[in-house]
Amino acid sequence: MSLLVQKFGGTSVGSVERIKAVAKRIALSKDLGHELVIVVSAMGHTTDELTGLAQIISSNPPQREMDMLLATGEQVSIALLSIALHELGVPAMSMTGAQVGIVTESSHGRARILEVRTERIKARLEEGQVVVVAGFQGTSLSSGGAAEITTLGRGGSDTSAVALATTLGAELCEIYTDVPGVLTTDPRKVEDAKLMPTLSCDEMLELASLGAAVLHPRAVELARNYGVTVRVRSSWTNDPGTTLTSKNKRSLGRSGLELGRPVDGLELVDSQAVLGLSHVPDKPGVAADLFEKLSTDGVNVDLIIQATHEGNSNDITFTVDEEELPKAQKICEAVLKQIGGYLVTQSEMTKLSISGAGIMGRPGIAATLFETLSRRGINLRLIATSEVKVSCVIDSSLDAKAIRAVSESFELDESQVKINPGVNGVGEPEVRGVALDQAQAQVSVRGVPDKPGTAAALCSALADAGISLDAIVQSERQQKNGSRDISFTLKKNDRQQADNALAPLLAKWPGAQLKDGPEITRVSAVGAGMPATPGTAARMFRALAEAKINIAMIATSEIRTSCVVAKTDGLPALKAVHTCFQLGFQDD
Ligand code: ASP
Ligand code: MG
Repeated sequence: MSLLVQKFGGTSVGSVERIKAVAKRIALSKDLGHELVIVVSAMGHTTDELTGLAQIISSNPPQREMDMLLATGEQVSIALLSIALHELGVPAMSMTGAQVGIVTESSHGRARILEVRTERIKARLEEGQVVVVAGFQGTSLSSGGAAEITTLGRGGSDTSAVALATTLGAELCEIYTDVPGVLTTDPRKVEDAKLMPTLSCDEMLELASLGAAVLHPRAVELARNYGVTVRVRSSWTNDPGTTLTSKNKRSLGRSGLELGRPVDGLELVDSQAVLGLSHVPDKPGVAADLFEKLSTDGVNVDLIIQATHEGNSNDITFTVDEEELPKAQKICEAVLKQIGGYLVTQSEMTKLSISGAGIMGRPGIAATLFETLSRRGINLRLIATSEVKVSCVIDSSLDAKAIRAVSESFELDESQVKINPGVNGVGEPEVRGVALDQAQAQVSVRGVPDKPGTAAALCSALADAGISLDAIVQSERQQKNGSRDISFTLKKNDRQQADNALAPLLAKWPGAQLKDGPEITRVSAVGAGMPATPGTAARMFRALAEAKINIAMIATSEIRTSCVVAKTDGLPALKAVHTCFQLGFQDD
């Protein structure tokens, strides 16, 4: 007999009929002999409606009272569902977050879960009861020791469910929702988007906007860290949905369930070479031609970065295994002969990466990494960031120093440091899903000094203002005074604030200035098999070139390749990439 946690979202319990249907489904699972902990959201749009009521009275209601108000939504649905189960003859008992002992931080409206006390639930399960728990809520111990009701933030019931599965050691956490599972891309944008039967939590996190539309990212983060298997499926059908997996197995520490270390791995790969092409023409097909030639000749490219420039030229930088440098160099030279541009190469380089689900949404992490390295005088040759990874390329002679500094900074022990671990993702698909991010803006800081600490200073200033950067690219070319440009993308909503955040810094760099790029969107292809499959990036660039789409920026990470394109090219780019990797059902 196994223990299952099943979560039903707002639409799944949106009416009395739906609640009765859910009760029947639970009764069937019970008949199969499972022990069941059920987590439910508030009925339908209850949370929105309650928020609306408060807003009629006040534009700025106290957060504590908002939590008191919103937590009632889930209290209604757990009671009704338990009543429905009783009607079917299934012994059931509802419990609020406080009754269970879902202990959270005291920050109202966005509390993170510290601990789930399991005694009370376990006692009821032993009696053969189905335990129905209110999602989205918990209890904090306020300064005077008095318990307060807290909520986890909108969409937080998913996180409640995975937290319960983690602490109870459930075999599976099933999330019943109004979509069939996780699709290869947004079906509203690409008609033939297809269900993914499985994917890893890391892939889900890298698919950012796509994944977040299905599951609360904090739930995915918990599942990833503690190795909980999560299945997302429709509450309307019996289809199996999408199974999310994770190989990690953190033990329940004392630091608080959702508070553990944000970074849990450091990886170094040495004997890398960097090839930097500058002043290449900015037109469709250039990246496709170059990387296709490399891939045809069997050169496996790792990081790829392309920055935009004023005028009509680009810089493209990439890394390969040092052994492949002579071959790669020859190919680049041949290409440059035809299209124009310059090549610089550098060997004896190391790729250093930190990883962890906690990197997502916490801009301070990348800033800390860059600061840690720059304080030791280590220059960053290349930077690549994604949702769960930050990589940079440094001089190999500084490896030992870097390992010490980074391990100390992120409190990593020896077991979390891997040196030349070998290729990941063998046997996995090169691309599993494709996402379009339309909320990004592109910005460049022109003329920054080329010395250790520049990227760190930029990232820290923005991180202090709570602004996350993506696709940070340092230009290949240097201005006459030795300065470089750094380009990045950030959320459109943060753009205004970035001016203020960077002003003091820019004042210190003579001639440096912040420039807005044209309106853009970002297309990202994600697949665990990407590092093990040569030519993935080339195929993506070719698909874009064939659709006559110009690539403004390229940024890759271990399992993600992203291209920034003009805003108007976003949808066609998404479709082209989705089709090129044969992700749709039309390709079956
Ligand atoms: N009812 C809460 C909300 O709408 C929590 C949830 O549904 O996950 O945000
Ligand atoms: Mg929800």
